[in-house]
Parts: sequence; structure tokens; C-alpha cells
Amino acid sequence: MTQYDVAIIGSGPGGYVAAIRCAQLGMKTAIIEKYSTLGGTCLNVGCIPSKALLDSSHHYEDAVKHFEEHGIEIPGEIKVNLEKMIARKQGVVDMTTKGIQFLMDKNKIDVYEGVGSFKDATHLNITKNNGKVETIEARNSIIATGSKPSSLPFIELDKERVITSTEALKLKEIPNHMIIIGGGVIGLELGQVYKRLGADVSVVEYMDRIIPTMDAGLSKELMKTMKKQKVKFYLSHKVKSVERKGKEVIVKADDKKGQEVTFTGDYCLVSVGRRPYTDGLNTEAAGVKLDESGRVVVNGHLQTNIPNIYAIGDVVRGAMLAHKAEEEGTMVAELMAGQKPHIDYNLIPGVVYTWPEVAAVGKTEEELKETGIAYKVGQFPMRALGRSRASMDVDGFVKILADATTDEVLGVHMIGARCADLISEAVTAMEFRASAEDIARMSHAHPTYSEAIKEAALAATEDRALHV
Ligand code: FAD
Ligand code: NAD
Repeated sequence: MTQYDVAIIGSGPGGYVAAIRCAQLGMKTAIIEKYSTLGGTCLNVGCIPSKALLDSSHHYEDAVKHFEEHGIEIPGEIKVNLEKMIARKQGVVDMTTKGIQFLMDKNKIDVYEGVGSFKDATHLNITKNNGKVETIEARNSIIATGSKPSSLPFIELDKERVITSTEALKLKEIPNHMIIIGGGVIGLELGQVYKRLGADVSVVEYMDRIIPTMDAGLSKELMKTMKKQKVKFYLSHKVKSVERKGKEVIVKADDKKGQEVTFTGDYCLVSVGRRPYTDGLNTEAAGVKLDESGRVVVNGHLQTNIPNIYAIGDVVRGAMLAHKAEEEGTMVAELMAGQKPHIDYNLIPGVVYTWPEVAAVGKTEEELKETGIAYKVGQFPMRALGRSRASMDVDGFVKILADATTDEVLGVHMIGARCADLISEAVTAMEFRASAEDIARMSHAHPTYSEAIKEAALAATEDRALHV
């Protein structure tokens, strides 16, 4: 039986990063993945393919709606070739997942294809596609089995017309009317893709705002800009039934007043969150505890109740984000090597890759109010930037929340062009516990979107933004 210092179950961003870091630290490492391609949800059916389709559909929208005002004329009709667009996306996914295989080989990590399950706390069975079972011994294990889409109890996901994000990434036709249940990250990103390609899109959201876990100012601004793009929103609507009738999908919901509202479309995307995935893992055999939501319970060191078994990423508490899973993968590897790593969960940024992009780090205004921390606000509109006017991306703002007494930056919330990249400046500043004045005194290249951060910091410091 092959023996390992560490065996990792699941090859998503949590698992494969943990594997690389373990190997770098000299551990004999195995990674077990049930699918034939590595990279997990993120690379195969998550971050990468969704961004590929967001980019393609953005190009199309620009060509149809904006090229002309830039003085670019395309004779004839501009058409979408959906098959080609989906094939390009798949090409990007294939290239990226092969890259992970290369990294495993480079770091001399043994890759096992099959379903991993615990035999006991130090032995893992790997059940291959042909039913054969191989057992390996592992001094330490890391559960990195990720998550799957969740649904509502009364919904039958037929995966043809009542679909999850996985199917929405490979549709064969552009929907006439896509009804989206859940105005969170997936619903808005994929909703925008199909809206740009020509579908009618209705977002039915249970809460009274979209992206409800982010700062309310961002919810409001994103909804305003997506409404301009003709996406329809139905907030405070409680979906109670989803029925498929041939090519039609009928969704019924109760609005705020309890009145029934009926939506008829040809596709329904269910995007109401994801659930931790431990099916087939046989955690009981190792004695690993799960909580009532099915998450693997871990302590501050990401250790389960069985000391040599760790768990990371979507399968444990916290934000379901690829970069959070990656940090946890690194942390566990370093802990096992006797180092003292640390993750500041407050500084894990959150991004929605719609256009305008939405990005945030630290505390929201709602959280600061709840905890009674006195804060000041500096906000700067994107439309006041020369860079924004040059590109015609004028929607959005940067908002900086700083401690009223110390001026320390407590939260940064932004919506606008390229905010997914801009948020890194805020993360860096907050990691070094910068004050708003520190940011305000730093030179920001002109003309860039990043000037909005400096201006918001000036506004937070002494209400002295320069360009408004
Ligand atoms: P996963 O990536 O889910 O990987 C788990 C792996 O474990 C899978 O490959 C699975 O097959 C394997 N596995 C499970 N059980 C077993 C077993 N018993 N044996 C062997 N293998 C097993 N996050 C971002 O940060 N940015 C984004 O832009 C973003 N976009 C997203 C878009 C979509 C449409 C979706 C669905 C998600 C998106 N996410 C994004 C979330 C991100 O994909 C997850 O947070 C991330 O993949 C979690 O990583 P993980 O390693 O914990 O698990
Ligand atoms: P989410 O938690 O972002 O959004 C789910 C939405 O559904 C929420 O707004 C919620 O209020 C709503 N909802 C829940 N029950 C409902 C009901 N019965 N009727 C109507 N609305 C209902 O979840 P998601 O969009 O499915 O994404 C899943 C996970 O994947 C998220 O945790 C997210 O972190 C991750 N993800 C991240 C990115 C990114 O980082 N850009 C992109 C996609 C997915």
C-alpha cells in the first residue's frame, strides 16, 4: 500500500493549492479527484467558464451597442454564434485544467482519479470508474470536496430547462425568457450574459435587495445599472412553485403583499446558493463531524475533530470563494509543516463580475451600524473621472468607510469598470492598517480608474475630494 504524508480529496482551488504547497514543503503528497479533469468547480463549471462567457458576451454587447459611438462601423448584421462562444469557453477551461495537471506533475504530486472515501482516519479508498478500489495510507488528510448547487424542496431540476449554473454555462440556444431564482452572484453574472445575448431576463429575489450580503449602496447601484440594461427585478418575492410544461417553465411567487405573481419563460435558472458536498466521502468511518448544514466542522486551524484530518474551502464555514479556498489550502499545508500561518477573513475580497464590476472588502455600513462603531464615509462617483469618460464607463462609485476617531480604513465598497482588479489596492491598504489619509496621500496614476480610490479617501479624510 502506498503511504503518503498527506492525501487531499478534491482538486478545486482549495485542494490543488494545498497539494502544491504541501509538495513545496517536502511532503509526499497525493490528490484524489473523482472527475477526469482537475480544478474542481472553479475551473470546470465556475469562475473560469463564467468569466469566459461574461467576456464574450461583453464584446458582443459592445459591438452591437457601443462601437458606433466610438466611430467604428460594422456593415451588416452582427450575430452571435452561441455554439462557437460555448466552444471557446470550453477551450479556455481545457487549457486551464491541463495547466493544473502540469503543476501536479511538476511538483511530483500523485494524482488519483476516482471517488475518495475514508476507510478509517489514516486510510482512504479510491473507487475508480471501473469499480476497482485502491487503498492508500495517509498520515494527514485534507477534505477539499467543495460544494454543489442547492435548490428549493419543491423544485425538480430537470437540467434541461430548469437548470443550475452548470447547465447555464453550456446552453445550446439563447433563451427567449430566462427566469432567474436568486439575485445573488451567479444569478446576476449569468443573467447578464444571457441578457446581453438577447434573452429577456427576470430576476426573482426573496430579499428586498440583490446581492444582499454586500453593502446596500452596491445593491442599489448595481440594480440601477442592470435595469438600464433592461434586466427585470422582482424583489421580496417568495417563489412557491416551478413547473415545466413542454418548452415552457412557469414560476409562481408571492410578492410582498402576499399576491401571487406568475412568470412564464423557457428557462429557469435556480441560483439560490450552494451546499457543502460530502456525498460518498464516508466521513463517519473516520469519525469526522459535520454540522446541521452538512459542513465539515473545523477549528481555527482548519482541523476537524480528528486531529490528522483537515478541511478547507466551500466544504467548511465562510465565504464560498476560490481565493478563500486557496488561502486555506496554503494555511493547512504550512500548519502541517510546523509554521504559523494566519488568514484574516475580514480581508477576503468579494467580487461580482457583472459590468460594472462590484467589489468589496472589510465591513459594510450595515455591519458597522450593527456593531455600533462610529465611522465616516468618503464616496466618489466614477463619472467624475477622465478615464471613465474616455471609455464611457461612467456608472458606479468608490466608497471608503473609515473609523471616525482613528481614520483607519474599515471597509471599501466599489462598483465600476475594472473594480475586480482595483479592490486589491484596498486589500493591501487594509492589510497594512492604512488610514484614509494614507491612501489620500499616495500618488495614483492619471488617468486611471484607481483615482476614484484616492478621491474617496480624500473625501473620507477631510471631505476634500478634488474633482467633484
Ligand atoms: P471545488 O472547486 O468545488 O472542488 C472540489 C472538488 O472535489 C471537485 O472537483 C469535486 O469533483 C471533488 N470531489 C468531491 N468529492 C470527492 C470525492 N469524494 N472524491 C474525489 N473527489 C471529490 N469563486 C470566486 O472566487 N470567483 C468567481 O468568479 C467565482 N465564480 C463562480 C461561478 C460559478 C458559476 C460557480 C458555481 C462558482 C463560482 N465561484 C467563484 C465559487 C468557486 O468556484 C468555489 O468557491 C471554489 O471552487 C471552491 O473551491 P474548493 O476547492 O473548496 O471546491
Ligand atoms: P448567493 O448566496 O450569492 O445568492 C443566492 C441568492 O438567492 C440570494 O440573494 C438569496 O437571497 C436568494 N434566495 C435564496 N432563497 C431564495 C428563494 N427561495 N427565492 C428567491 N431567492 C432566493 O448564491 P449563488 O448566486 O447561488 O452562488 C453560490 C456561491 O457561489 C456563492 O456563495 C458565491 O460566493 C459563489 N460564487 C462566487 C462568484 C464570484 O465570486 N464572482 C460567482 C459565482 C458564484
